[in-house]
Amino acid sequence: MTFATRFLTRSYRPHDPAAADAATDTPPASRAEEARRALLARIGEFVETHDLAVTASNLSTICGGLSGSHPELAQAFTAREIAGEPIDQRWLDTLARLDPEGHSRIAGLEALMDKLEYSLMRFAQTARSARSETSDHRGALGAKIEAMADIDLAPAAAGELAQVIDLSRAMLARIEQAEASMARSQEETDRLRENLAKARMEADVDHLTGLPNRRAFERRLVSASLEARAKGEALSLAFCDVDHFKLVNDRHGHEAGDRVLCALAGTLNEHAGSACFVGRHGGEEFVLLFYGMDKNAARAKLDAIRRAQAARLLMNRDTGQPFGRVTFSGGVAEVTEDTDTRSALARADAALYRAKQEGRNRVMVG
Ligand code: GH3
Ligand code: MG
Ligand code: MG
Repeated sequence: MTFATRFLTRSYRPHDPAAADAATDTPPASRAEEARRALLARIGEFVETHDLAVTASNLSTICGGLSGSHPELAQAFTAREIAGEPIDQRWLDTLARLDPEGHSRIAGLEALMDKLEYSLMRFAQTARSARSETSDHRGALGAKIEAMADIDLAPAAAGELAQVIDLSRAMLARIEQAEASMARSQEETDRLRENLAKARMEADVDHLTGLPNRRAFERRLVSASLEARAKGEALSLAFCDVDHFKLVNDRHGHEAGDRVLCALAGTLNEHAGSACFVGRHGGEEFVLLFYGMDKNAARAKLDAIRRAQAARLLMNRDTGQPFGRVTFSGGVAEVTEDTDTRSALARADAALYRAKQEGRNRVMVG
């Protein structure tokens, strides 16, 4: 029995509350707490065993499958295990589509991350100003103590003053300790903020190609469209889909297919330049945004990239066999032609469909 089988068997065994109640006197609240901890541990173990990225989307899908809260996901996990196929990022990405509630859970996680980030920022500000005030007080108090120590007094008064000086020195030492612990808290907060920023970035990256993923694209589309309208500039978008990609997989295997996708991502990125945003929409589909370009300019730009890709002869480095010409078809639409970004997505999609219908390896405008 593989680790995953044990893992999955454990995960999907139906829970029998009556048997659990009979077996233990543990109060229900702490049993719920135990179950929650056990689920968390299983999710962590799963992520580590299959070397998966810690992203909101992954955690949401894994939680849906392992907790049994999403029966379809749970079934897919079991079926995958029985088939003995790898549990990897690509498979999880395809599963995310099975989980329509995943989006709202991810939105919830994002809202939580926003709150955490805001609290950390506020804490860092407060800690910084408290530290600087404490440091000022320490400096002022230290100077006064030294000045007092130099005062020449009658012996009776000198005894009193010596006590005041001792107390003040003790206070000074406490302030120094507080200052040091504030510095440590500040360092920890800064580290937490860095980790949070890193997690956010990872959630926006497609793990195969390193390009921004669909989530990142959708966010960028909204902000770029607002910006273009505010500046009175044009904005266009395009969908690209690899032609007959299934054949590449069938002839050379999935892993080779993955390398072809990476090569294509490289061509798109290299030729798009800084006036374009390039992302992987999912599967063998890529998406581009053309800043400041109307649909004709965008079509011309994408067509140049298409020609560059069609001219490349890709080789399978494992077998030395050529992949042949790997081409793509594209559909372009001008976002700023309409007030609704969804309409531009639909027009680009329809144009891509026509490009496929009319023979592939071409770019059409919607
Ligand atoms: P068309 O020209 O009509 O687009 O034909 P196609 O074969 O490209 O289209 P189809 O949608 O039938 O097949 C797409 C294939 O892409 C099927 C799927 O297995 C494969 N695919 C999707 N994502 C990945 C991936 O991440 N890696 C690999 N290797 N293959 C993938
Ligand atoms: Mg496709
Ligand atoms: Mg295709």
